[in-house]
Amino acid sequence: MNKQIEILEDVFNNFLGESNIFKNREALRHDYIPDYLPHREEEIRILGQILGPSLRGMLCSNVLVYGKTGTGKTAVAKFVINRLAAKANEIKSPLRVSFVNCRLAGTEYRVLSALCSSINVKVPFTGLALGEVFDRFKSALNSKRIVLVVALDEIDALIKERGDTLLYELTRINENLSKSKVSILGISNDLRFKDMLDPRVLSTLSEEEIVFRPYNAEELQDILKQRAEIAFKKGVSYEAAIKLCSAIAAAEHGDARRALDLLRVAAELAEREGKSIISEDHVYQAQKRIEHDRVAETLKTLPIHSKIVLLSVFLISKHKRKGLMTGDIYNVYCELCGEMNINPLTQRRVSGLINELDVMGLVNSRVVSLGRYGRSKKTTLGVPFKVVKEVFLEDERMRNMINYVPKYLNSIH
Ligand code: ADP
Ligand code: MG
Repeated sequence: MNKQIEILEDVFNNFLGESNIFKNREALRHDYIPDYLPHREEEIRILGQILGPSLRGMLCSNVLVYGKTGTGKTAVAKFVINRLAAKANEIKSPLRVSFVNCRLAGTEYRVLSALCSSINVKVPFTGLALGEVFDRFKSALNSKRIVLVVALDEIDALIKERGDTLLYELTRINENLSKSKVSILGISNDLRFKDMLDPRVLSTLSEEEIVFRPYNAEELQDILKQRAEIAFKKGVSYEAAIKLCSAIAAAEHGDARRALDLLRVAAELAEREGKSIISEDHVYQAQKRIEHDRVAETLKTLPIHSKIVLLSVFLISKHKRKGLMTGDIYNVYCELCGEMNINPLTQRRVSGLINELDVMGLVNSRVVSLGRYGRSKKTTLGVPFKVVKEVFLEDERMRNMINYVPKYLNSIH
């Protein structure tokens, strides 16, 4: 075969699923649950002990699981719940389980209808009041004798969007049930979740608590090794890559999801190059790619006024090269609004938006002393010019402003 035919052969084989790297890509996805979860024995045991009484038809304690993202909460909860359901089936126990992701469900209504469908109660997509659905849920539970274990993943999303009506009702449901019982397993990524809850709901929900701590670099390595063995073909060399992915993720906040993402993207880069070695360099490239995508995604979803504020900082940095004070940013912002036919917000609001952008890492603000004139804030762009430009060029309203030269900048030095 000549070189060019060889190249095409490789390219085509790629499309046909012939890969030098992957045996099973799925194993690196977020929702893949391996049948063994390294370094979570204790958490699995404790959760099993808490939920275990339900197998004998007894009410078990409600439990609140929390910890940062990527610490294995969803994986552990699903693992335990699945085993619990299998065991119940094996011993013919009247136990039902229901696992709902509250963020994906989106509304209290949909969370509740998911719970209903787990006990075979049909609810229309819309049209009923929440209270009506809840009554149907209760009367179905009252008509039989079951123990329902409800896992509410990303429960914080429910509270932030809607308040805690549903949780309030759920935590009190056993008072109104004569035959059946309901236990709740709540899972939250947000450590401040507890502060958002009505104290009565909190005390019922957190009869037991399990905190998932972040993984360290060695633990992440074990997690990645296990996945790599499933995902990659024999002979693929990935040891150095795994070490680096684990070190990077551990230095951030011990997030297994982050480590897996790095490994997956690095592996895809190696695959595209037709290599069977996933190198450290692939990992560094993957890190850049992921960071780029993350920033681009955040930029895209900003509200219009935040975009204009960010563009102001962008244009000032581009033409002056130095960070400027909030007042300067505000002047440029107003000028841009004028050009775009948009009513500007007050300086106070814009100052708040700058703070938000700072928290998201899109700009860097620091307070500087102006001697006897007091203090002010200097703000510079916190992300590469290139990403901002790329995203705004795709944005219909921002596109024309990206090369604009603010007149205000000529009036100052
Ligand atoms: P959380 O729900 O805490 O944000 P997840 O359970 O979704 O975290 O875990 C993120 C990813 O890391 C998932 O793909 C999961 O399979 C994997 N993972 C987390 N902990 C472990 C572990 N101990 N063993 C194997 N995989 C894990
Ligand atoms: Mg989760």
